[in-house]
Amino acid sequence: MDSTDASRCTDAPDSSSLPRRGQGTVSTRNCDLPISPLIKGGGLVPKLEEQISRDHSSRCLVVMYHYVHDVAPQIDQPASGEPCGIRGLTRAAIAEQIDALSRNYEPIDWPKFYAWTQGRWSAPHRCFLLTFDDGLADHAESVVPILQDRGLRSVFFVPGTILARRQMLSAHAVHLLLNLLGVDGLSDELQREIAQDADLQSAEGRYDNENEDSDALRIYGYESPELARLKHLITWRLPIDARNRMIERLFERHVGSAARWSDHWYLGWKSLVEMQSMGHTIGGHGFDHEPYSRFSVEECRNDAFRVASVLRDGLGADARPFSYPFGDVTSAASEAIARAGFVQAFTTEKQWAAQNADPLRIPRIDTISIPLVSESKTCCGV
Ligand SMILES: [Zn+2]
Repeated sequence: MDSTDASRCTDAPDSSSLPRRGQGTVSTRNCDLPISPLIKGGGLVPKLEEQISRDHSSRCLVVMYHYVHDVAPQIDQPASGEPCGIRGLTRAAIAEQIDALSRNYEPIDWPKFYAWTQGRWSAPHRCFLLTFDDGLADHAESVVPILQDRGLRSVFFVPGTILARRQMLSAHAVHLLLNLLGVDGLSDELQREIAQDADLQSAEGRYDNENEDSDALRIYGYESPELARLKHLITWRLPIDARNRMIERLFERHVGSAARWSDHWYLGWKSLVEMQSMGHTIGGHGFDHEPYSRFSVEECRNDAFRVASVLRDGLGADARPFSYPFGDVTSAASEAIARAGFVQAFTTEKQWAAQNADPLRIPRIDTISIPLVSESKTCCGV
């Protein structure tokens, strides 16, 4: 995703571009947890197998996960008074997928993966590595016990800001708002906020642009068109600072204290230290968790440096990998990540990883693209 140019955020407003009430066909309001994906047995997806069918060299399937829980973290009750949940894999679903992966391929941990790509270790012919993005409390509570039961070690990519301040990442705040308000309700709220904020109006008008619409559908192809446009607007178009202020206002108004929610939503140092001591790898996932193409070169360097520093100060100076927030890869981002000291960076390019892969562009495959978990959706894709 090299296409986003922050300079395009400066045109006049046009609120007609926002998805409006009645246009949406899918509401994400869904409080019927657990939201369990449909598990199907059998082998791995033919398309993934076809990629390497004639390749006799070793290949690694790097799998990416986000939410994993039976009941989403919650404190008190949300504003509506109803229980609230976020889509994701259930514990049973991920356990079943991991077991199926293990029947087909050999699990490896990140130190072995790194050594393999460095030519210092011979990987099994077909192997897999598990990775988890976003520093979610889910990962300590739901995932680690499943991994420990199976003697597996994974990579957990953490945004630095969750360790530095008690605040919800905008992406996750939006998931909770969508869960409470639905697409139409959140669209209405956004229109009201944008109408009252000149900073937000500076970018919002670009949204009727045909190319940006196709970007939205490409990036968020797993969502309804209305929700894809809404997420694209929030993450990729609106000015970051004004957007964050707006999301914080909406979150406090509809969901509750972001500080208190963040305590329950994200991993803290105690969990991270324990996970690392168990042999899991803790990597960086940006500091502010924004797409790097929205940053200047200097901002990319600053963001990568800050997350590297937080992890080094808290967990030691081990070699660490990085995963691009929103899978957004640019040359400036790669340069900044390497300069900050990360030794590898993972993308969301849907390919098997080869031993000679570019160390700053290692492909990963989302859990929803693996047929062992079919017709499931994650809310974020972040
Ligand atoms: Zn993310």
